[in-house]
Amino acid sequence: MASGLTVWADQLEVGESSVLDLNTDGEPVPRPDILVVGGGVLGVATALACQRAGLGTVSLIEARSLGSGATAGAAGLLVPEAHQGSDPTAFVELARASLELWRGLERELPRGVGYKDMDWIGLAPQPEGFLANPPKTVEWLSEEDVVELVPGLGRRTTGAMVRHQGRVNPLRAVSRMAAQLPHVATGVVAAGCQAKGGSIVTVFTSKGAIAPGAVIFATGLPPDLTGLGLSIPANLVKGHLAATEPVALTVAGSVAPLATQIEGGRLLVGGTLDTSDTSSGVNAAVVEGVKRDLYTAFPRLAGVRLSHQWCCWRPHHPDDQPVIDRVPGLDNAWFTSGHYRTGILMAPATARLLSEWALAGRKPERASPWGLDGRWGS
Ligand SMILES: Cc1cc2nc3c(=O)[nH]c(=O)nc-3n(C[C@H](O)[C@H](O)[C@H](O)COP(=O)(O)OP(=O)(O)OC[C@H]3O[C@@H](n4cnc5c(N)ncnc54)[C@H](O)[C@@H]3O)c2cc1C
Repeated sequence: MASGLTVWADQLEVGESSVLDLNTDGEPVPRPDILVVGGGVLGVATALACQRAGLGTVSLIEARSLGSGATAGAAGLLVPEAHQGSDPTAFVELARASLELWRGLERELPRGVGYKDMDWIGLAPQPEGFLANPPKTVEWLSEEDVVELVPGLGRRTTGAMVRHQGRVNPLRAVSRMAAQLPHVATGVVAAGCQAKGGSIVTVFTSKGAIAPGAVIFATGLPPDLTGLGLSIPANLVKGHLAATEPVALTVAGSVAPLATQIEGGRLLVGGTLDTSDTSSGVNAAVVEGVKRDLYTAFPRLAGVRLSHQWCCWRPHHPDDQPVIDRVPGLDNAWFTSGHYRTGILMAPATARLLSEWALAGRKPERASPWGLDGRWGS
């Protein structure tokens, strides 16, 4: 759950925020063909993919409001090329495919998803893996190039640029996708399930029992329901972000690791990994650090106020990679979890994998790297 005031919620139109609380007082569909549990970006994208694949009646239930978990607080950057050389090849390929699918959703949904094309600049020093095996489309930037593209930077440095990456306001994207789903119920907690003959027959929720044809769990962390018996190592990793007041400075897109220019001329800053911060809300000391880093990086912005500051918790597995798999021992249940730092980016491609798997009943080849097999002793 995000804590503090996110710039994303502030930037939604009235109609967009009301979609996040769909059918709160209503009952979920009692016998859907597909039940999706979890209304973060992964769950909403998955429900939409299932519906578009013609999987019958697709019902989504969410314990709170849509996008209220990690999704609410993400930076919304869609930058597969930044992972080149540092993450496994399969990860980068899934990320590239997902960026293409985000672009497709922008074209194909009636109001798009609020996708913005954006150039990405990684300032030196780049990770060793990136230097050794850079993206094909990388443009290396001299110090003079960086001065031109990132005015006001307080140090001289070289960089790497990749054009045509993307970003979304995660809540807008969730809202626009959810607006296409006829059966969403928020405020519904899935608490347990019952299986017979290797299939889930009933999911018990705070609003009664549901008898689904198939279930897909997209609950951030692995689903923790009685009767499911899943036990996979996972934890939450806290992170802080902030947005500035509009600034009199235009940077070219996203300048890693410093700032991304967003709507209204604001800069999005932070994205901390607060592994030892056990406090439950926004930690003022961490936000002070984010502000200090901004002023050091851009001395002419010293004194600029932060208009928004928030934190949220990334669902994480020990190998930093997500899981996309069938629930062991069940033929009509799948789950995805632990999307850590890139769940917004990966959502449409993950959703497509899950919907193809549910439709065909056969595991798509592309899902192999994300299974439980061989991970954590399984
Ligand atoms: C500071 C920060 C910056 C980030 N920046 C980026 C970025 O730039 N790009 C990027 O791609 N990713 C980014 N991320 C990561 C991204 O936020 C997550 O990977 C992604 O939001 C995970 O989505 P999810 O749908 O799996 O989980 P969540 O958004 O947490 O959604 C899971 C939902 O399931 C619901 N749920 C759980 N259990 C149940 C139940 N039993 N019954 C009903 N509902 C249930 C929860 O209420 C929740 O709403 C960032 C994260 C942080 C913290």
